[in-house]
Amino acid sequence: MNIAPWVPCTNCSAPIMVESVYIEKYFKAEPISCPNCKSEIDWWVTIQQSIREKKLNLAFSILEAKTNLINLQLVPEQRTRVKLSENGIPPDARVLYMNYTPQEGGLFPIEIHGNVPHRRIIGDEIWVYPIPISNNNSVSTTKVSVMITWVKHSLNEISLLNITDAFEAYSINQYQDSIIPANVAVESALSKLLSKYISDIVSKKGTDNFLKNTATYSSQLNIVLPLIVATKGLTLLPDNIRGLLNRLRDLRNQIAHEGNTKNELTKTDTADILCAALFGLKYIALIGAELGVS
Ligand SMILES: [Zn+2]
Repeated sequence: MNIAPWVPCTNCSAPIMVESVYIEKYFKAEPISCPNCKSEIDWWVTIQQSIREKKLNLAFSILEAKTNLINLQLVPEQRTRVKLSENGIPPDARVLYMNYTPQEGGLFPIEIHGNVPHRRIIGDEIWVYPIPISNNNSVSTTKVSVMITWVKHSLNEISLLNITDAFEAYSINQYQDSIIPANVAVESALSKLLSKYISDIVSKKGTDNFLKNTATYSSQLNIVLPLIVATKGLTLLPDNIRGLLNRLRDLRNQIAHEGNTKNELTKTDTADILCAALFGLKYIALIGAELGVS
């Protein structure tokens, strides 16, 4: 079973199903309202909050990750196999998140590892063994719901691969490790967009030279893109997001030049920067579509 992500309404707590058009609506300043209480939702604040709280399912869903629900049955003292590819998940998918929820029966699944335990899911098979949830309960066959969020990006999807790496590093508290992939994701997407757009007007060689030597990433983000967008009457990237992308670029440079960020990155700092990278990528895709170069 495939399940769609949702967020609780900040006003009435009713679930709001996440739709991919919401980010577009946010950029175009079109209102997004709760279907239950009709109050308006700030999509940036909603996503930022879920990233800060490490409820990354929402961020992953924006990165085209999917979530499947698998039901398994634990029998006392018997191991059980969870075969991902028999449950609608491609065998070469990358698992980003798993959550086990046992129903009645008193058993909880423990993942079995080999001689050298992996710290992430490798392959498409997991074996679990049932242990009693508490010491003084009798146990019986227990149904368990397994929620699995996974993604399958091809190798040429540089931006998606890198931003997913960035979020994975963040999810395991490796804040500094998220900086370079997050920056690569946005920088490469922007460079690709501008390269296609400008080379339709001037020569490919001239474009390459301009983007590599004259208008490097900072100028592309802060001058070239806003200029094109304003000339075409399209929506500008909000200043707070552009500011955070500049901060990301600066941190990336500190790591590349000094080996470290000057100050230690906090969880909130990193969450906000990653949220900006996520929105930045979606913005670049939106502008690409509007310019007809995506
Ligand atoms: Zn509501």
